[in-house]
Amino acid sequence: MRILVVEDDVNLNRQLSDALKEAGYVVDQAFDGEEGHFLGETEPYDAVILDIGLPVIDGITVVEKWREEGKSMPVLMLTARDRWSDKVAGIDAGADDYVAKPFHVEEVLARVRALIRRAAGHASSEIVCGPVRLDTKASKATVDGSTLKLTSHEFRLLSYLMHHMGQVVSRTELVEHMYDQDFDRDSNTIEVFVGRLRKKLGVDLIETVRGLGYRMQSPNDAS
Ligand code: CA
Repeated sequence: MRILVVEDDVNLNRQLSDALKEAGYVVDQAFDGEEGHFLGETEPYDAVILDIGLPVIDGITVVEKWREEGKSMPVLMLTARDRWSDKVAGIDAGADDYVAKPFHVEEVLARVRALIRRAAGHASSEIVCGPVRLDTKASKATVDGSTLKLTSHEFRLLSYLMHHMGQVVSRTELVEHMYDQDFDRDSNTIEVFVGRLRKKLGVDLIETVRGLGYRMQSPNDAS
């Protein structure tokens, strides 16, 4: 899962980005509205954290532009505590949720998790696929109750496939959601990660769809 953080306060941006990385996400950072808007327009994000008060272009205009351009990724706005009108304007412009400053990073993380889950059609914080359970809150996964020891890449891969269970996900899409913009991306490595993940899962839940990509689905739903 890949997140964009648009916040001009350098310390706050770093604090949020570090916490998100710690929780297993890939993070891109932007420090003004123009850069943030560009990234959100050109890169696929699973969620965006967007400050309202930004240099060059303000956050409300940024989210408005994305929605006009047909970008539908979940957007969490950061607002000032006393500016209720900003919250209304942000939601009306197309934001999905907001957190007022000052906030606890844990609250931001919880809201981001919920936005990503809901966007993928999951209401519960735990996503289940046969014997595999993904705990989005603790960023861990189990098979038949025993915890899987996954590297950060393997976890991101499993998390993306489970959030999009039943759908065919292409290698390009996986690469885009597993690495940040500066990473030297190579879609061949995806095959390697899928192989390792299959081995660790020990159950055959990730299907290769020839020429298209991969699909993870519960044995009960297989057709
Ligand atoms: Ca600001």
